Amino acid sequence: MTTLKFTCMQCGTCCYEITEQPGSKRIPLYPEEVTKLISLSEKRGYNFQVIEDLVFPDIKNKKILVVTYKIILNNQNERCPFYQTKSGCSIHNEKPYACQAYPLSLIRIDAFNFKISIDPLCNFIIDNYDQLLNVDLDNLKIIFKDEFPKAEKFYRKNKRLQLKIRELEYEGKIEIPRELHIKDFNRYLNQWEREEIIVR
Ligand code: SF4
Ligand code: SF4
Repeated sequence: MTTLKFTCMQCGTCCYEITEQPGSKRIPLYPEEVTKLISLSEKRGYNFQVIEDLVFPDIKNKKILVVTYKIILNNQNERCPFYQTKSGCSIHNEKPYACQAYPLSLIRIDAFNFKISIDPLCNFIIDNYDQLLNVDLDNLKIIFKDEFPKAEKFYRKNKRLQLKIRELEYEGKIEIPRELHIKDFNRYLNQWEREEIIVR
């Protein structure tokens, strides 16, 4: 059994731009989280903008179903607008699911399935890479004692969303193509209205 325990180094790396895709933060935000963060940023006078992240085209209703957004980084330091240089995250009690679970994250297995994983860009993970390389689930729960239940909460939320989409498909209310040419997808993205998929 491992003796390793996750201790955040307070380096702030996870609140900065750490994706290969410059210009947006990787953490997924659910629509209701976006609403909450917009309201908070308006009260604080922050520049907070998001772009769509996970979306599905619904060819039955000619709509784009929006499951998650991500933060656009447009400030000088390319950091989340809620990050304070001296004190770190300024919205501890309002943190999105993804931030609560970090450095655990959900990785996509396919369009509809995810699993709990470790984000390799966290500095604690980098420093302890060898010990974490082949870690099993039991040890993962020990190392990330506080974060694992939050990752499970995040996973369950994600699962409920995927189930809702499948239920809507099963009931014939929406139709998501399993194969789609990129040109058609881009055309739909440009032309169709949005509908957010929300579960509590
Ligand atoms: S919400 Fe907080 S923890 Fe999440 S990226 Fe922003 S500053 Fe970091
Ligand atoms: S990158 Fe890892 S160690 Fe650094 S602040 Fe984020 S969670 Fe903590």
